[in-house]
Amino acid sequence: MPFEPDFKLPATETPQALWFVFQKDSLLLKTNDNGCLIPCSRDLAEFNLSPMRKQYLGALDGLPCYAAEMPDTVSLADGLMLQGLRETFGRLEEDLIWIAGRANQLVDWSRSHQFCGRCGHPTEDRTEERSKICPACGLVNYPRLSPAVIVAVVRGDRLLLASNKRFRPGYFSVLAGFVEPGENLEDCVAREIREEVGISVKNIRYFGSQPWPFPNSLMVAFLADYAGGEIRIDPSEIVDAAWFTADNLPAIPPRITIARHLIDWFVNSR
Ligand SMILES: [Zn+2]
Repeated sequence: MPFEPDFKLPATETPQALWFVFQKDSLLLKTNDNGCLIPCSRDLAEFNLSPMRKQYLGALDGLPCYAAEMPDTVSLADGLMLQGLRETFGRLEEDLIWIAGRANQLVDWSRSHQFCGRCGHPTEDRTEERSKICPACGLVNYPRLSPAVIVAVVRGDRLLLASNKRFRPGYFSVLAGFVEPGENLEDCVAREIREEVGISVKNIRYFGSQPWPFPNSLMVAFLADYAGGEIRIDPSEIVDAAWFTADNLPAIPPRITIARHLIDWFVNSR
């Protein structure tokens, strides 16, 4: 049974329920001889932890899943650890990583919308949907998502890859950028490629999408063909950009990412 999202708290407690608890942006994990696990209700009771701002996420294989926050002041007992979400790639099952990403975004949203952004009054959780309402002025807040595009630009037998300023040296990926108000996704693809590397693209077509909880993006992936221009990088964002053949790729993102799915599509289509 896949993950079934929901927001209404179940009426009864389940000792095996999974808890995706964050302290700042780090996920609480229980350690054992075989690695790490998502703690369950019974574990939290055993370690005497009572997380704040509990939210219901839905059920994974019938098991209730909760998101919550642990105050910064709580220190960890032996047998527990905190790990950044990216560090869980390859260590937790993929289903659990995506639920943790969902949890992280909802915890962050709940924490940063305790007060109305318009009038400053404390907000209240609504019961009929996942949102918060200001009882003073009526402003409703939903969990924030920032759509971003990510694009594989192909020129003959070569793929455009770039190294962003935020990447570790020598690490390359396909280009990505946030959608601006007033743009459609295709406009955004064309603008990002033009701004970051100075080339124009054509035949922009949809590839797929992926939630990306760093911090609250929805990555919408596209394929595009080179149309014109020579690479001229924007040094405020990009350190290096070049055309790569499938047999000569640099260091690229891990398999879980949609960036990698795009690169693998290019390699497999050769
Ligand atoms: Zn208000």
